[in-house]
Amino acid sequence: MSQDHTQSPQPRLEVRNLTRRFGDREVVRDVSFSVAPGQVTCLLGPSGCGKSTTLRMIAGVDRQSSGEVYVDGEMICGPNFSLPPEKRRIGLMFQDFALFPHLSVADNVSFGLEGSKAEKRARVAELLEKVGLSWAMDDFPHMLSGGEQQRVALARALAPRPRIMLMDEPFSGLDNRLRDDIRDETLALLKDEGTAVVLVTHEPEEALRMGQEIALMRDGSIVQFGTPYNIYNAPVDREAMAFFSDIN
Ligand code: ADP
Ligand code: MG
Repeated sequence: MSQDHTQSPQPRLEVRNLTRRFGDREVVRDVSFSVAPGQVTCLLGPSGCGKSTTLRMIAGVDRQSSGEVYVDGEMICGPNFSLPPEKRRIGLMFQDFALFPHLSVADNVSFGLEGSKAEKRARVAELLEKVGLSWAMDDFPHMLSGGEQQRVALARALAPRPRIMLMDEPFSGLDNRLRDDIRDETLALLKDEGTAVVLVTHEPEEALRMGQEIALMRDGSIVQFGTPYNIYNAPVDREAMAFFSDIN
């Protein structure tokens, strides 16, 4: 099932025919899609379908069996080539985001930053302002609520201006009441920064809410790719329809 999910103009991220085998099992099979700057593409599917493995290959912390990944047209991994993860300018956010407990909020956000002291301080101030946490810059993580810590983690991930943000179920640790707010704030900030986002989730509702495009995955493959409207209103088969049937 090899489909071309690429689009014009030049995408920020382009994933071509990524495949990952463990032994003789293909856990990611021929996955292709692209993401424009400022756009969110969701990888949606049940547990075990290969979402995290796909992200790990894009991040460079796992090696693909075959396929290529391009950022702004430049190959970052392919046959016999792999740019080290720290040179990919890709930001990561996972459910178990761990802030450094012994560093202040400001130091957490500036941790991976380069440049002069003044530049770093300005970037930290800008981001903490954007996530509404200027008042907390000298606090330590344990003094903040879960939602506030999540905002700090987002600011930290965005501080070095990553070209791409990879998010693996980043909201699943939050309670419902908070989650909607954090999702909306996160989207607004990512859009503001112009970052291309790949968001992994097993919750249809989250993908419909957050993605401009959704790649529906099953058993390692993308079985349908489209806008939330298309995916929701014209599911590719019965199984896809059932997957969306729990939400109103
Ligand atoms: P998802 O994130 O969609 O829940 P994963 O990408 O984590 O799925 O895993 C996809 C499949 O690949 C699972 O069946 C998982 O057990 C398998 N898998 C992941 N990593 C490894 C590994 N290092 N060795 C063997 N199998 C793996
Ligand atoms: Mg996963």
